[in-house]
Amino acid sequence: MEIVKRLAQISPSATMAAADKAARLKAQGVDVIDLGQGLPDFGTPANICEAGIAAIRDGKTRYTANAGIPELRDAISRRYRDRYGIEYDREEIVVTCGGKHALYAAFQALVENGDEVIVPTPYWVSFPEQVRIAGGRPVFVDAAEEDDFVISAEAIARAVTSRTKAIVLNTPSNPSGAVIPVEVLEDIARVALDNDLVIVFDETYDQFLYEGATHGAPLSLGKEAKKVTLMIGSCSKTWAMTGWRIGWAAGPRDLIKAMGRLQSHLTSNPASVSQWAAVEALNGDQSAVGEMLAAFAERRALVLERLGSMPGVSCGEPMGAFYAFPNVSGLFNERIGTSFDMASHIIESVHVVTVAGAAFGRDGYLRLSFAVEIERLREALDRLADAFLALA
Ligand code: PMP
Repeated sequence: MEIVKRLAQISPSATMAAADKAARLKAQGVDVIDLGQGLPDFGTPANICEAGIAAIRDGKTRYTANAGIPELRDAISRRYRDRYGIEYDREEIVVTCGGKHALYAAFQALVENGDEVIVPTPYWVSFPEQVRIAGGRPVFVDAAEEDDFVISAEAIARAVTSRTKAIVLNTPSNPSGAVIPVEVLEDIARVALDNDLVIVFDETYDQFLYEGATHGAPLSLGKEAKKVTLMIGSCSKTWAMTGWRIGWAAGPRDLIKAMGRLQSHLTSNPASVSQWAAVEALNGDQSAVGEMLAAFAERRALVLERLGSMPGVSCGEPMGAFYAFPNVSGLFNERIGTSFDMASHIIESVHVVTVAGAAFGRDGYLRLSFAVEIERLREALDRLADAFLALA
């Protein structure tokens, strides 16, 4: 049996690989602390679970409209109206099996063989792979550590060629926590308008912001920007719903229609029960989101304080999401020369799981999730301090 080249070149998700490694060690009875995971350590809020249970009881267990139930698309539409003052009607929204599937469908709809998609680094692991699966070529543009990993519109403009189709932006960023200021997003929207490009705008972490950071979108440039922006959202992180698999895309009608056509042959509608739970997530009580944010903020402060005192390690301040992205290249030696070596060394020596920066396109760094209970996080940081001290 031969696997087609298109898929043979795709690397498995490094974050999932780290989770597998942690599970294997745990099964052997090792006390592993997992800072590799990319999900809130909280359960789905009770009101949302109840809405899912009620949907089952009420028999809402059949196929729904392919693009999602109208109630959910209306709730998504309201969200954008309230935040950005931009109207999306039901035909401009498609509900998908997680944000991941919205992104997948977007690249399938936008990218011809050999087309280019601009991907700032560090990137979320699936962006370049999804571009490649669509036959495209990710063109990487580095966001500098000195700029707190905030990409500039100029750097993006310089990377545009006649083959460029789209720009992927993710703010707040997984893995760096960078929050792109709204003025920069508006400048990037101008680049997209000037060059007939689509901005694939992933705001999966938009509710997790620290120290007064504000989240914006290219849409704030106005109605023109709506024509070149594909908004990607997800229930996964905001409402701790990773297993329910609900995300969405909102954007230009033709693009949404094409994505819906693809979905109709792949998954049909996302799970009906999950969609009803998502309606409650979007419309219901939001206090659980605030509680999660408060917990993340406390842990973030601990992580920054501890990393800041470790010799050979430098760490910028993540202004959003729930990851720290420290530079550990100062600790590299003859044996440990890459971030993959470092992540392996840390798992083996002190049993803490982290993800190598190279998986996000930037060697020299590690991604540490602080979506971990604070006492375990404290213990993990003690262990990391030991591991790093031995290398310093
Ligand atoms: N975008 C980013 C930046 C993410 O980190 C993730 C999840 N790790 C997703 C999209 C997709 O999440 P989901 O498919 O669970 O909605």
